[in-house]
Amino acid sequence: MENNNRREFLKKSILAISGAALLPSNLRSGMNGVSPENVRPELPTRILGKTGINTPLISMGTSGATASGFVRSAYEAGIKLFFSATYYGEGNNEKLVGEGLRELPRDSFVVGTAVPSDGMDMRSGTFTKPFDSQAYISKAEQSLKRFGLDYVDFFLFPYAGKREVVLNEEVLKAMELLKKQGKTRFVGIASHSDTEEALKAATDSGVFEMAMIAYNYKTSNLESLNSVIAKARKAGIGIVAMKTTAGAMRQKSGPPINIDAALKWIFRNENISSIVSGMSSFEELQKNLVMIQNLKMSDQELKDLNLADMSAEPGLYCRQCRKCIPQCPNNLDIPTIMRSYMYAYGYKNSSQAWHTIANVEISGRPCEKCEVCRINCTAGFDIKNKILDISRLKDVPSEFVIA
Ligand code: SF4
Ligand code: SF4
Repeated sequence: MENNNRREFLKKSILAISGAALLPSNLRSGMNGVSPENVRPELPTRILGKTGINTPLISMGTSGATASGFVRSAYEAGIKLFFSATYYGEGNNEKLVGEGLRELPRDSFVVGTAVPSDGMDMRSGTFTKPFDSQAYISKAEQSLKRFGLDYVDFFLFPYAGKREVVLNEEVLKAMELLKKQGKTRFVGIASHSDTEEALKAATDSGVFEMAMIAYNYKTSNLESLNSVIAKARKAGIGIVAMKTTAGAMRQKSGPPINIDAALKWIFRNENISSIVSGMSSFEELQKNLVMIQNLKMSDQELKDLNLADMSAEPGLYCRQCRKCIPQCPNNLDIPTIMRSYMYAYGYKNSSQAWHTIANVEISGRPCEKCEVCRINCTAGFDIKNKILDISRLKDVPSEFVIA
């Protein structure tokens, strides 16, 4: 009964948004309930490296999901890979994903979660204390409990950047142990910054099988990153892309970017197996599912991305190059603050923005005391004003934030 209600809800919501005529025929049959129970629409797929997983081009980044029914609806619409993190809603997101996937055949979905190590300095991307494998494994076990699963398909080591961190012997041993103990099928890295370095190290490790990397049409050093991606892919690393819309909005209150164009641009690289999309509404889900049926970019879509003049506007996407940190006399973790700003104004995800900035030290409002901001940002951001704006989130109590 509950299943029927959910199907009905999914059908009505999606059809109400834009009409069945927009949906490809295989999706129409799935969503209209014409298909037999448990037969989900076939979506276009690619193979995720040596994991052998045949993944739909769109995967779900679950940070924007606020109801387990939405996760279940994404599954029923054909989504197979779901990615959460221990730090999304302080673990509540993993519970929600687990609820959404409960009682489904375990081999019909793939679930991964990012488990960060304690003692990582986000400013330098290095450890501030020795990596504690026991503590890490225990964190991973807590994650399984929250999902209500015996195992996940991926444990991801997030904020991977520096080679010495990715290849840290204790890290590699812990990841291997998690696999040996049957707590995960595969392990991977997630990298926002120093991505080339992280990916090269993951490829050399012989341990990691997957990499989730920030990749979008605003990526700098694209040629060299693409070459590292190609080598990783050749070595069997499955690559999924995140931060794919480069902030979704051009400016805080300006027109949105052409999301379809931004996502199609990613698939021009055949070494990327899937996009992790932080979908939070049926409309986004439906749009994504329609988009992957036709990856050809029109002239207008290319024009919309303004590829020829990337410096024309800074937008909201922080390249996480960390070049600003040594320029700031207060050593602020500006890249993390800028990510929070992007979540708030680009993705309109205030919960993720709040959680991202929660652990950043900005005591005493240092930017207010700086007469002139000394930062020369690679992306051309007005750093001072962005920090003054988003740091107000630090004053919002946690009970006001939807997990
Ligand atoms: S210099 Fe600009 S683009 Fe680079 S990390 Fe700092 S804020 Fe982001
Ligand atoms: S205004 Fe600029 S230089 Fe001063 S503390 Fe803020 S980010 Fe650093």
